[in-house]
Amino acid sequence: FNALHLLLLAMCSLCRFIQSPMETVSLNYLKATSFDFDGFSNLRESTSTASLDFGRFVFNFPRAVFRPKTPDDIATLLRLLSASPSSKISVAARGAGHSIHGQAQARDGIVVEMDSLPSSITIRKLVDGEEGFSYADVSGGALWVELLEESLKHGLAPRSWTDYLYLSIGGTLSNAGISGQTFKYGPQISNVLQLEVVTGKGEIVTCSPAKAPELFHAVLGGLGQFGIITRARILLQNAPQQVKWVRAFYDNFQTFSQDQELLISMPDTLDYIEGFIVLNENSLHSSSIAFPSQLDFISGLRKDPSKVHYCIEFAVYDYRTDETFSTEQAVEEVARKLRFLRPFIYSAKVSYYDFLNRVRMEEMRLREKGVWDVPHPWLNMFVPKSGIHHFKNLLLGSISHQEFEGPILIYPLLKHKWDMNSSAVLPEPSTTSAAESVVYVVGVLQSANPSLCGSACLFELLGRQRQLAEAAAGSQIGAKQYLGHQPSPSHWRKHFGGRWERFADRKWRFDPACVLAPGQGIFVSRS
Ligand code: FAD
Repeated sequence: FNALHLLLLAMCSLCRFIQSPMETVSLNYLKATSFDFDGFSNLRESTSTASLDFGRFVFNFPRAVFRPKTPDDIATLLRLLSASPSSKISVAARGAGHSIHGQAQARDGIVVEMDSLPSSITIRKLVDGEEGFSYADVSGGALWVELLEESLKHGLAPRSWTDYLYLSIGGTLSNAGISGQTFKYGPQISNVLQLEVVTGKGEIVTCSPAKAPELFHAVLGGLGQFGIITRARILLQNAPQQVKWVRAFYDNFQTFSQDQELLISMPDTLDYIEGFIVLNENSLHSSSIAFPSQLDFISGLRKDPSKVHYCIEFAVYDYRTDETFSTEQAVEEVARKLRFLRPFIYSAKVSYYDFLNRVRMEEMRLREKGVWDVPHPWLNMFVPKSGIHHFKNLLLGSISHQEFEGPILIYPLLKHKWDMNSSAVLPEPSTTSAAESVVYVVGVLQSANPSLCGSACLFELLGRQRQLAEAAAGSQIGAKQYLGHQPSPSHWRKHFGGRWERFADRKWRFDPACVLAPGQGIFVSRS
Protein backbone atom coordinates (compact mmCIF):
# COMPACT_ATOMS: atom_id res chain seq x y z
CA PHE A 1 0.00 0.00 0.00
CA ASN A 2 1.39 3.36 -0.92
CA ALA A 3 0.38 6.66 0.69
CA LEU A 4 -2.18 7.46 -2.03
CA HIS A 5 -3.81 4.07 -1.65
CA LEU A 6 -4.08 4.60 2.10
CA LEU A 7 -5.53 8.04 1.64
CA LEU A 8 -8.19 6.64 -0.67
CA LEU A 9 -8.96 3.85 1.78
CA ALA A 10 -9.39 6.37 4.56
CA MET A 11 -11.54 8.59 2.39
CA CYS A 12 -13.69 5.69 1.26
CA SER A 13 -14.35 4.79 4.84
CA LEU A 14 -15.47 8.36 5.49
CA CYS A 15 -17.55 8.27 2.26
CA ARG A 16 -19.87 5.75 3.88
CA PHE A 17 -21.04 8.50 6.17
CA ILE A 18 -20.97 11.44 3.85
CA GLN A 19 -24.22 12.71 2.45
CA SER A 20 -24.72 16.45 2.31
CA PRO A 21 -23.26 18.68 -0.47
CA MET A 22 -21.34 20.62 2.16
CA GLU A 23 -19.68 17.42 3.27
CA THR A 24 -18.85 16.52 -0.31
CA VAL A 25 -17.09 19.85 -0.65
CA SER A 26 -15.14 19.02 2.49
CA LEU A 27 -14.31 15.64 1.09
CA ASN A 28 -13.02 17.17 -2.11
CA TYR A 29 -10.92 19.52 -0.07
CA LEU A 30 -9.53 16.63 1.94
CA LYS A 31 -8.71 14.75 -1.25
CA ALA A 32 -6.95 17.77 -2.65
CA THR A 33 -4.67 18.16 0.35
CA SER A 34 -1.58 16.10 1.00
CA PHE A 35 -2.84 14.57 4.22
CA ASP A 36 -0.94 11.79 5.81
CA PHE A 37 -3.91 9.73 6.86
CA ASP A 38 -3.03 6.25 8.08
CA GLY A 39 -5.43 3.67 9.31
CA PHE A 40 -7.14 0.32 9.20
CA SER A 41 -5.79 -3.09 9.88
CA ASN A 42 -3.12 -2.87 7.19
CA LEU A 43 -1.40 -0.17 9.20
CA ARG A 44 -1.15 -2.07 12.42
CA GLU A 45 1.82 -0.12 13.69
CA SER A 46 0.07 3.28 13.75
CA THR A 47 -3.14 1.98 15.24
CA SER A 48 -1.27 -0.11 17.81
CA THR A 49 0.69 2.89 18.99
CA ALA A 50 -2.48 4.94 19.16
CA SER A 51 -4.17 2.25 21.26
CA LEU A 52 -1.43 2.30 23.88
CA ASP A 53 -0.73 4.60 26.79
CA PHE A 54 1.42 4.76 29.92
CA GLY A 55 -1.20 2.90 31.96
CA ARG A 56 -0.88 -0.18 29.73
CA PHE A 57 -4.16 -1.75 30.69
CA VAL A 58 -6.67 0.01 28.39
CA PHE A 59 -6.28 -0.67 24.65
CA ASN A 60 -8.80 0.81 22.21
CA PHE A 61 -7.93 0.51 18.55
CA PRO A 62 -8.86 3.46 16.32
CA ARG A 63 -9.98 2.94 12.74
CA ALA A 64 -7.50 5.56 11.54
CA VAL A 65 -4.56 7.65 12.62
CA PHE A 66 -4.38 11.17 11.30
CA ARG A 67 -1.15 13.11 10.99
CA PRO A 68 -2.03 16.75 10.34
CA LYS A 69 0.58 19.15 9.04
CA THR A 70 -1.34 22.32 9.97
CA PRO A 71 -4.20 23.36 12.29
CA ASP A 72 -6.25 23.79 9.10
CA ASP A 73 -5.97 20.05 8.46
CA ILE A 74 -7.46 19.37 11.91
CA ALA A 75 -10.18 21.99 11.34
CA THR A 76 -11.19 20.38 8.05
CA LEU A 77 -11.46 16.95 9.63
CA LEU A 78 -13.51 18.23 12.58
CA ARG A 79 -15.81 20.31 10.35
CA LEU A 80 -16.48 17.25 8.26
CA LEU A 81 -17.24 14.98 11.19
CA SER A 82 -19.24 17.44 13.29
CA ALA A 83 -21.47 18.25 10.30
CA SER A 84 -22.16 14.57 9.89
CA PRO A 85 -23.71 13.38 13.14
CA SER A 86 -24.69 10.09 11.58
CA SER A 87 -21.04 9.25 10.95
CA LYS A 88 -20.52 8.48 14.66
CA ILE A 89 -16.76 8.80 14.20
CA SER A 90 -15.06 10.40 17.20
CA VAL A 91 -11.62 12.04 17.37
CA ALA A 92 -8.96 12.00 20.07
CA ALA A 93 -5.93 14.24 20.07
CA ARG A 94 -2.91 12.29 21.21
CA GLY A 95 -0.01 14.21 22.72
CA ALA A 96 2.65 12.02 24.27
CA GLY A 97 0.11 9.29 25.13
CA HIS A 98 1.07 9.39 28.81
CA SER A 99 -2.46 9.00 30.11
CA ILE A 100 -3.30 6.05 32.32
CA HIS A 101 -6.88 5.07 31.43
CA GLY A 102 -7.03 5.39 27.62
CA GLN A 103 -7.97 9.10 27.71
CA ALA A 104 -6.17 9.79 24.41
CA GLN A 105 -7.65 6.74 22.67
CA ALA A 106 -10.63 6.57 20.29
CA ARG A 107 -12.20 3.14 19.84
CA ASP A 108 -13.10 2.85 16.16
CA GLY A 109 -12.55 6.58 15.80
CA ILE A 110 -9.67 8.71 14.58
CA VAL A 111 -6.57 9.51 16.63
CA VAL A 112 -4.86 12.79 15.74
CA GLU A 113 -1.13 12.50 16.41
CA MET A 114 -0.23 15.98 17.65
CA ASP A 115 3.51 15.49 17.20
CA SER A 116 3.00 15.51 13.43
CA LEU A 117 2.33 19.28 13.51
CA PRO A 118 5.72 20.86 12.88
CA SER A 119 7.18 21.67 16.31
CA SER A 120 7.59 25.39 16.62
CA ILE A 121 8.72 27.42 19.63
CA THR A 122 9.12 31.20 19.43
CA ILE A 123 10.48 33.05 22.43
CA ARG A 124 9.55 36.67 23.10
CA LYS A 125 11.93 38.13 25.70
CA LEU A 126 11.16 41.47 27.31
CA VAL A 127 13.90 44.01 26.87
CA ASP A 128 14.98 46.23 29.79
CA GLY A 129 12.37 48.82 30.66
CA GLU A 130 9.67 47.20 28.54
CA GLU A 131 6.36 46.43 30.27
CA GLY A 132 4.56 43.09 30.04
CA PHE A 133 5.77 39.52 30.18
CA SER A 134 8.28 37.33 28.44
CA TYR A 135 6.53 34.40 26.83
CA ALA A 136 6.85 31.48 24.42
CA ASP A 137 4.50 30.62 21.57
CA VAL A 138 4.64 26.86 21.27
CA SER A 139 2.82 24.25 19.21
CA GLY A 140 0.34 22.04 21.07
CA GLY A 141 2.14 18.78 20.32
CA ALA A 142 5.58 19.98 21.48
CA LEU A 143 6.99 18.50 24.69
CA TRP A 144 7.70 20.55 27.82
CA VAL A 145 11.33 19.42 27.67
CA GLU A 146 11.62 21.01 24.20
CA LEU A 147 10.20 24.27 25.53
CA LEU A 148 12.64 24.17 28.45
CA GLU A 149 15.62 23.62 26.16
CA GLU A 150 14.61 26.41 23.79
CA SER A 151 13.74 28.97 26.46
CA LEU A 152 16.96 28.30 28.39
CA LYS A 153 18.88 29.50 25.32
CA HIS A 154 17.37 32.91 26.13
CA GLY A 155 17.95 32.66 29.89
CA LEU A 156 14.23 32.08 30.43
CA ALA A 157 11.94 29.23 31.51
CA PRO A 158 8.26 28.57 32.26
CA ARG A 159 7.33 29.11 35.92
CA SER A 160 5.17 26.05 36.56
CA TRP A 161 6.05 22.46 35.73
CA THR A 162 5.12 18.81 35.89
CA ASP A 163 7.57 16.37 37.51
CA TYR A 164 8.16 14.70 34.15
CA LEU A 165 8.90 16.77 31.05
CA TYR A 166 8.24 14.33 28.19
CA LEU A 167 4.55 15.27 28.18
CA SER A 168 2.93 17.44 25.52
CA ILE A 169 1.91 21.06 26.06
CA GLY A 170 -1.67 20.34 24.92
CA GLY A 171 -1.91 17.15 27.02
CA THR A 172 -0.98 18.73 30.37
CA LEU A 173 -2.99 21.93 29.69
CA SER A 174 -6.01 19.69 29.14
CA ASN A 175 -5.56 18.47 32.73
CA ALA A 176 -3.84 21.07 34.96
CA GLY A 177 -0.07 20.39 35.09
CA ILE A 178 1.10 20.34 38.69
CA SER A 179 4.39 19.93 40.52
CA GLY A 180 6.38 21.43 43.39
CA GLN A 181 6.11 24.96 41.92
CA THR A 182 2.27 24.93 41.98
CA PHE A 183 2.03 26.33 45.54
CA LYS A 184 3.81 29.44 44.28
CA TYR A 185 2.66 29.99 40.69
CA GLY A 186 -0.45 27.83 40.41
CA PRO A 187 -0.74 24.92 37.95
CA GLN A 188 0.45 25.19 34.35
CA ILE A 189 -3.07 26.19 33.32
CA SER A 190 -2.70 29.33 35.47
CA ASN A 191 0.39 30.33 33.47
CA VAL A 192 -1.06 30.55 29.95
CA LEU A 193 -1.64 33.88 28.21
CA GLN A 194 -3.31 32.75 24.99
CA LEU A 195 -4.31 29.64 23.08
CA GLU A 196 -5.04 28.70 19.50
CA VAL A 197 -7.78 26.08 19.53
CA VAL A 198 -9.61 24.10 16.87
CA THR A 199 -13.08 23.62 18.38
CA GLY A 200 -15.11 20.45 17.97
CA LYS A 201 -17.04 22.33 15.26
CA GLY A 202 -13.83 22.82 13.30
CA GLU A 203 -13.39 26.56 13.94
CA ILE A 204 -9.89 27.85 14.52
CA VAL A 205 -10.06 30.38 17.37
CA THR A 206 -7.37 32.41 19.11
CA CYS A 207 -8.55 32.90 22.68
CA SER A 208 -7.31 34.52 25.88
CA PRO A 209 -8.80 35.94 29.10
CA ALA A 210 -9.77 39.00 27.03
CA LYS A 211 -10.72 37.42 23.70
CA ALA A 212 -13.17 34.50 23.50
CA PRO A 213 -12.63 33.95 27.26
CA GLU A 214 -15.29 31.22 27.57
CA LEU A 215 -13.40 28.95 25.16
CA PHE A 216 -10.04 29.83 26.75
CA HIS A 217 -11.23 28.85 30.23
CA ALA A 218 -13.15 25.82 28.97
CA VAL A 219 -10.13 24.30 27.26
CA LEU A 220 -7.77 24.75 30.23
CA GLY A 221 -8.29 21.63 32.35
CA GLY A 222 -11.05 20.67 29.88
CA LEU A 223 -9.94 17.05 29.34
CA GLY A 224 -9.83 17.60 25.58
CA GLN A 225 -13.64 18.00 25.42
CA PHE A 226 -13.99 21.39 23.71
CA GLY A 227 -11.20 21.74 21.21
CA ILE A 228 -7.72 20.73 20.19
CA ILE A 229 -4.95 23.06 21.38
CA THR A 230 -2.70 23.75 18.40
CA ARG A 231 -0.71 26.58 19.98
CA ALA A 232 -0.19 28.01 23.48
CA ARG A 233 1.41 31.20 24.75
CA ILE A 234 3.22 30.28 27.97
CA LEU A 235 4.43 32.80 30.52
CA LEU A 236 8.21 32.78 31.06
CA GLN A 237 10.46 34.06 33.84
CA ASN A 238 14.22 34.40 34.22
CA ALA A 239 15.74 30.95 34.62
CA PRO A 240 17.96 30.20 37.62
CA GLN A 241 21.34 28.60 37.02
CA GLN A 242 21.38 26.12 39.85
CA VAL A 243 19.08 24.64 42.43
CA LYS A 244 19.68 23.71 46.04
CA TRP A 245 17.56 20.58 46.45
CA VAL A 246 16.79 19.29 49.96
CA ARG A 247 15.17 16.23 51.51
CA ALA A 248 14.25 15.90 55.20
CA PHE A 249 12.71 12.83 56.84
CA TYR A 250 9.92 12.41 59.39
CA ASP A 251 8.28 9.56 61.28
CA ASN A 252 5.16 11.46 62.29
CA PHE A 253 2.53 12.42 59.74
CA GLN A 254 1.15 15.37 61.65
CA THR A 255 4.56 16.99 62.06
CA PHE A 256 5.33 16.29 58.40
CA SER A 257 2.13 17.90 57.10
CA GLN A 258 2.36 20.86 59.48
CA ASP A 259 5.91 21.51 58.25
CA GLN A 260 4.78 21.24 54.62
CA GLU A 261 2.08 23.82 55.29
CA LEU A 262 4.64 26.06 56.95
CA LEU A 263 6.85 25.79 53.86
CA ILE A 264 4.10 26.79 51.41
CA SER A 265 3.71 29.98 53.42
CA MET A 266 7.26 30.98 52.40
CA PRO A 267 6.99 31.66 48.64
CA ASP A 268 9.56 34.46 48.86
CA THR A 269 12.27 32.02 49.97
CA LEU A 270 11.26 28.68 48.49
CA ASP A 271 10.69 27.72 44.85
CA TYR A 272 9.54 24.11 45.03
CA ILE A 273 7.83 21.92 47.67
CA GLU A 274 6.78 18.28 47.41
CA GLY A 275 6.78 15.26 49.71
CA PHE A 276 6.56 11.46 49.79
CA ILE A 277 5.27 8.66 51.93
CA VAL A 278 8.25 6.33 52.42
CA LEU A 279 7.16 2.70 52.72
CA ASN A 280 10.23 0.90 51.51
CA GLU A 281 13.42 1.34 49.49
CA ASN A 282 11.51 1.89 46.23
CA SER A 283 9.56 4.83 47.59
CA LEU A 284 12.10 7.54 46.82
CA HIS A 285 12.52 7.96 43.10
CA SER A 286 15.70 9.54 41.74
CA SER A 287 17.14 9.22 45.24
CA SER A 288 20.36 7.38 44.55
CA ILE A 289 21.34 9.78 41.77
CA ALA A 290 21.14 13.12 43.55
CA PHE A 291 21.33 11.94 47.13
CA PRO A 292 23.82 9.08 47.47
CA SER A 293 24.30 9.93 51.16
CA GLN A 294 20.59 9.38 51.75
CA LEU A 295 21.20 5.67 51.17
CA ASP A 296 22.15 5.41 54.88
CA PHE A 297 18.64 6.41 55.76
CA ILE A 298 17.17 4.03 53.22
CA SER A 299 19.17 1.07 54.51
CA GLY A 300 17.98 2.02 58.03
CA LEU A 301 14.41 1.45 56.78
CA ARG A 302 15.15 -2.28 56.56
CA LYS A 303 15.63 -2.48 60.35
CA ASP A 304 11.93 -1.83 60.98
CA PRO A 305 10.07 -2.47 57.71
CA SER A 306 6.68 -1.92 59.37
CA LYS A 307 7.43 1.73 60.14
CA VAL A 308 6.17 4.40 57.75
CA HIS A 309 8.31 7.47 57.14
CA TYR A 310 7.65 10.73 55.33
CA CYS A 311 9.98 12.91 53.32
CA ILE A 312 9.68 16.61 52.57
CA GLU A 313 11.44 17.75 49.42
CA PHE A 314 12.03 21.44 48.87
CA ALA A 315 14.27 23.59 46.69
CA VAL A 316 15.70 27.08 46.53
CA TYR A 317 16.69 28.45 43.12
CA ASP A 318 20.05 30.11 42.69
CA TYR A 319 19.81 32.98 40.18
CA ARG A 320 23.37 34.18 40.96
CA THR A 321 22.30 37.77 40.50
CA ASP A 322 22.36 38.85 44.13
CA GLU A 323 25.79 38.59 45.81
CA THR A 324 24.21 38.81 49.25
CA PHE A 325 21.84 35.86 48.72
CA SER A 326 23.14 32.39 49.49
CA THR A 327 20.98 29.34 48.83
CA GLU A 328 22.92 27.48 51.54
CA GLN A 329 22.05 30.14 54.09
CA ALA A 330 18.41 30.20 52.97
CA VAL A 331 18.19 26.42 53.36
CA GLU A 332 19.80 26.55 56.81
CA GLU A 333 17.33 29.18 57.98
CA VAL A 334 14.36 27.22 56.68
CA ALA A 335 15.66 23.91 58.11
CA ARG A 336 15.98 25.50 61.58
CA LYS A 337 12.20 26.02 61.58
CA LEU A 338 11.40 22.40 60.65
CA ARG A 339 10.85 19.45 63.01
CA PHE A 340 12.29 16.60 60.90
CA LEU A 341 14.07 13.59 62.42
CA ARG A 342 17.51 14.94 63.10
CA PRO A 343 20.07 14.34 61.57
CA PHE A 344 18.15 13.08 58.51
CA ILE A 345 18.38 16.02 56.16
CA TYR A 346 20.25 15.79 52.85
CA SER A 347 20.95 18.35 50.16
CA ALA A 348 22.43 18.51 46.68
CA LYS A 349 23.23 21.34 44.31
CA VAL A 350 22.35 20.56 40.72
CA SER A 351 21.81 22.48 37.50
CA TYR A 352 18.31 23.84 36.95
CA TYR A 353 17.92 21.62 33.87
CA ASP A 354 18.91 18.46 35.75
CA PHE A 355 16.59 19.35 38.61
CA LEU A 356 13.57 19.79 36.33
CA ASN A 357 14.51 16.73 34.31
CA ARG A 358 15.04 14.51 37.38
CA VAL A 359 12.35 11.95 36.53
CA ARG A 360 14.06 11.29 33.18
CA MET A 361 17.05 9.88 35.10
CA GLU A 362 14.69 7.58 36.95
CA GLU A 363 13.05 6.62 33.64
CA MET A 364 16.46 5.63 32.22
CA ARG A 365 17.20 3.52 35.31
CA LEU A 366 13.83 1.76 35.10
CA ARG A 367 14.16 1.28 31.33
CA GLU A 368 17.53 -0.42 31.89
CA LYS A 369 15.86 -2.79 34.35
CA GLY A 370 13.02 -3.38 31.86
CA VAL A 371 10.36 -2.04 34.28
CA TRP A 372 9.34 1.27 32.66
CA ASP A 373 6.96 -0.15 30.05
CA VAL A 374 4.80 -2.04 32.54
CA PRO A 375 1.20 -1.43 33.67
CA HIS A 376 0.77 1.65 35.88
CA PRO A 377 -2.41 1.54 37.95
CA TRP A 378 -1.96 5.13 39.19
CA LEU A 379 -4.37 7.06 41.36
CA ASN A 380 -4.14 10.85 41.81
CA MET A 381 -6.42 12.72 44.20
CA PHE A 382 -6.93 16.25 45.42
CA VAL A 383 -7.74 15.95 49.11
CA PRO A 384 -8.98 18.83 51.29
CA LYS A 385 -6.66 19.62 54.19
CA SER A 386 -9.41 18.66 56.65
CA GLY A 387 -9.49 15.10 55.24
CA ILE A 388 -5.81 14.44 54.58
CA HIS A 389 -5.13 12.52 57.79
CA HIS A 390 -8.15 10.28 57.23
CA PHE A 391 -7.24 9.76 53.56
CA LYS A 392 -3.66 8.85 54.46
CA ASN A 393 -4.94 6.19 56.88
CA LEU A 394 -7.34 4.77 54.26
CA LEU A 395 -4.53 4.66 51.72
CA LEU A 396 -2.05 2.97 54.04
CA GLY A 397 -4.72 0.44 54.98
CA SER A 398 -5.34 -0.43 51.34
CA ILE A 399 -1.79 -1.20 50.15
CA SER A 400 0.93 -3.67 50.98
CA HIS A 401 3.75 -1.64 52.53
CA GLN A 402 6.55 -4.04 51.68
CA GLU A 403 5.44 -4.91 48.15
CA PHE A 404 4.36 -1.47 46.96
CA GLU A 405 6.52 -0.43 43.99
CA GLY A 406 6.77 3.24 43.12
CA PRO A 407 6.58 6.62 44.81
CA ILE A 408 3.60 8.01 46.74
CA LEU A 409 3.62 11.78 46.38
CA ILE A 410 1.86 13.98 48.90
CA TYR A 411 2.10 17.75 49.08
CA PRO A 412 -0.06 20.81 49.67
CA LEU A 413 -1.28 23.37 47.11
CA LEU A 414 -3.00 26.71 47.55
CA LYS A 415 -6.48 26.90 46.02
CA HIS A 416 -6.36 30.62 45.36
CA LYS A 417 -3.56 30.04 42.82
CA TRP A 418 -6.10 28.25 40.60
CA ASP A 419 -8.42 30.09 38.26
CA MET A 420 -11.88 28.75 39.07
CA ASN A 421 -13.10 29.78 35.59
CA SER A 422 -11.01 26.96 34.13
CA SER A 423 -12.54 23.49 33.74
CA ALA A 424 -10.21 21.85 36.30
CA VAL A 425 -11.96 20.33 39.33
CA LEU A 426 -10.78 20.80 42.92
CA PRO A 427 -12.62 19.79 46.13
CA GLU A 428 -15.78 21.86 46.45
CA PRO A 429 -16.32 24.60 49.02
CA SER A 430 -19.24 22.60 50.45
CA THR A 431 -16.82 19.88 51.58
CA THR A 432 -14.00 22.21 52.61
CA SER A 433 -14.50 25.06 54.97
CA ALA A 434 -14.68 28.26 52.93
CA ALA A 435 -11.60 29.51 54.75
CA GLU A 436 -9.67 26.33 53.93
CA SER A 437 -7.26 27.36 51.25
CA VAL A 438 -5.03 24.28 51.34
CA VAL A 439 -5.62 21.16 49.24
CA TYR A 440 -3.24 18.20 49.16
CA VAL A 441 -2.35 16.33 46.02
CA VAL A 442 -1.74 12.64 46.61
CA GLY A 443 -0.21 10.62 43.74
CA VAL A 444 -0.18 6.85 44.27
CA LEU A 445 2.20 6.02 41.42
CA GLN A 446 2.32 2.26 41.49
CA SER A 447 4.05 0.03 38.93
CA ALA A 448 2.73 -3.48 38.35
CA ASN A 449 5.63 -5.51 37.00
CA PRO A 450 3.94 -8.42 35.17
CA SER A 451 6.55 -10.87 36.46
CA LEU A 452 5.35 -10.13 40.02
CA CYS A 453 1.77 -9.01 39.41
CA GLY A 454 -0.18 -10.75 36.63
CA SER A 455 -3.53 -9.68 35.24
CA ALA A 456 -5.58 -10.99 38.20
CA CYS A 457 -3.35 -9.04 40.58
CA LEU A 458 -3.59 -5.93 38.38
CA PHE A 459 -7.39 -6.09 38.38
CA GLU A 460 -7.39 -6.52 42.13
CA LEU A 461 -5.19 -3.42 42.49
CA LEU A 462 -7.52 -1.44 40.22
CA GLY A 463 -10.55 -2.62 42.20
CA ARG A 464 -9.02 -1.58 45.52
CA GLN A 465 -8.07 1.75 44.01
CA ARG A 466 -11.64 2.31 42.84
CA GLN A 467 -12.90 1.60 46.36
CA LEU A 468 -10.37 4.02 47.86
CA ALA A 469 -11.27 6.76 45.35
CA GLU A 470 -14.99 6.30 46.03
CA ALA A 471 -14.53 6.36 49.80
CA ALA A 472 -12.41 9.50 49.51
CA ALA A 473 -14.96 11.21 47.26
CA GLY A 474 -17.68 10.73 49.91
CA SER A 475 -18.84 13.65 52.05
CA GLN A 476 -16.52 12.79 54.93
CA ILE A 477 -13.35 13.59 52.95
CA GLY A 478 -14.67 15.31 49.82
CA ALA A 479 -11.67 14.46 47.61
CA LYS A 480 -11.64 14.73 43.80
CA GLN A 481 -9.71 12.59 41.37
CA TYR A 482 -7.06 14.18 39.16
CA LEU A 483 -6.21 12.55 35.78
CA GLY A 484 -8.77 9.96 36.76
CA HIS A 485 -11.22 7.72 35.11
CA GLN A 486 -14.90 7.54 36.07
CA PRO A 487 -16.84 4.37 35.25
CA SER A 488 -19.85 6.16 33.67
CA PRO A 489 -21.16 9.58 32.59
CA SER A 490 -23.23 9.74 35.80
CA HIS A 491 -20.07 9.26 37.88
CA TRP A 492 -18.57 12.17 35.91
CA ARG A 493 -21.55 14.36 36.83
CA LYS A 494 -20.93 13.57 40.47
CA HIS A 495 -17.24 14.30 40.02
CA PHE A 496 -17.96 17.74 38.56
CA GLY A 497 -20.61 18.41 41.22
CA GLY A 498 -21.61 22.09 41.13
CA ARG A 499 -19.42 22.64 38.07
CA TRP A 500 -21.22 20.10 35.89
CA GLU A 501 -23.76 22.42 34.31
CA ARG A 502 -21.15 24.86 33.12
CA PHE A 503 -19.00 21.99 31.79
CA ALA A 504 -21.96 20.49 29.89
CA ASP A 505 -22.99 23.93 28.53
CA ARG A 506 -19.48 24.45 27.26
CA LYS A 507 -19.63 21.04 25.55
CA TRP A 508 -22.85 21.91 23.71
CA ARG A 509 -21.35 25.21 22.70
CA PHE A 510 -17.95 24.09 21.39
CA ASP A 511 -18.42 20.41 20.48
CA PRO A 512 -22.18 19.87 20.13
CA ALA A 513 -21.77 16.72 18.04
CA CYS A 514 -19.60 15.16 20.82
CA VAL A 515 -16.76 14.37 18.44
CA LEU A 516 -13.84 15.00 20.79
CA ALA A 517 -11.91 12.97 23.37
CA PRO A 518 -14.17 9.89 23.68
CA GLY A 519 -11.53 8.13 25.81
CA GLN A 520 -12.48 10.26 28.80
CA GLY A 521 -15.96 8.67 28.81
CA ILE A 522 -17.66 11.87 30.01
CA PHE A 523 -20.28 12.11 27.27
CA VAL A 524 -21.87 9.25 25.38
CA SER A 525 -19.33 8.24 22.76
CA ARG A 526 -20.16 8.39 19.05
CA SER A 527 -18.08 5.34 18.10
P1 FAD B 1 -2.19 12.45 26.26
O1 FAD B 1 -2.18 11.23 27.13
O2 FAD B 1 -1.72 12.29 24.89
O3 FAD B 1 -3.65 13.11 26.28
C1 FAD B 1 -4.33 13.37 27.48
C2 FAD B 1 -5.71 13.96 27.19
O4 FAD B 1 -5.56 15.24 26.61
C3 FAD B 1 -6.53 13.15 26.19
O5 FAD B 1 -7.88 13.27 26.50
C4 FAD B 1 -6.22 13.81 24.87
O6 FAD B 1 -7.25 13.61 23.93
C5 FAD B 1 -6.10 15.26 25.29
N1 FAD B 1 -5.15 16.02 24.47
C6 FAD B 1 -3.89 15.70 24.14
N2 FAD B 1 -3.34 16.68 23.41
C7 FAD B 1 -4.28 17.64 23.29
C8 FAD B 1 -4.32 18.91 22.64
N3 FAD B 1 -3.28 19.39 21.97
N4 FAD B 1 -5.46 19.62 22.73
C9 FAD B 1 -6.54 19.17 23.41
N5 FAD B 1 -6.55 17.97 24.02
C10 FAD B 1 -5.44 17.22 23.97
N6 FAD B 1 0.76 15.36 35.53
C11 FAD B 1 0.93 16.42 36.34
O7 FAD B 1 0.07 17.29 36.41
N7 FAD B 1 2.06 16.54 37.08
C12 FAD B 1 3.07 15.64 37.02
O8 FAD B 1 4.08 15.80 37.69
C13 FAD B 1 2.93 14.53 36.16
N8 FAD B 1 3.91 13.62 36.03
C14 FAD B 1 3.75 12.57 35.19
C15 FAD B 1 4.78 11.64 35.08
C16 FAD B 1 4.66 10.57 34.22
C17 FAD B 1 5.79 9.58 34.09
C18 FAD B 1 3.45 10.39 33.50
C19 FAD B 1 3.27 9.20 32.62
C20 FAD B 1 2.41 11.29 33.62
C21 FAD B 1 2.54 12.39 34.47
N9 FAD B 1 1.54 13.34 34.61
C22 FAD B 1 1.72 14.41 35.43
C23 FAD B 1 0.25 13.18 33.94
C24 FAD B 1 0.22 13.93 32.64
O9 FAD B 1 0.26 15.32 32.84
C25 FAD B 1 -1.07 13.63 31.88
O10 FAD B 1 -1.22 12.26 31.70
C26 FAD B 1 -1.05 14.32 30.52
O11 FAD B 1 -2.28 14.13 29.88
C27 FAD B 1 0.04 13.72 29.69
O12 FAD B 1 0.23 14.49 28.54
P2 FAD B 1 0.21 13.74 27.15
O13 FAD B 1 0.77 14.68 26.19
O14 FAD B 1 0.86 12.42 27.26
O15 FAD B 1 -1.37 13.60 27.00
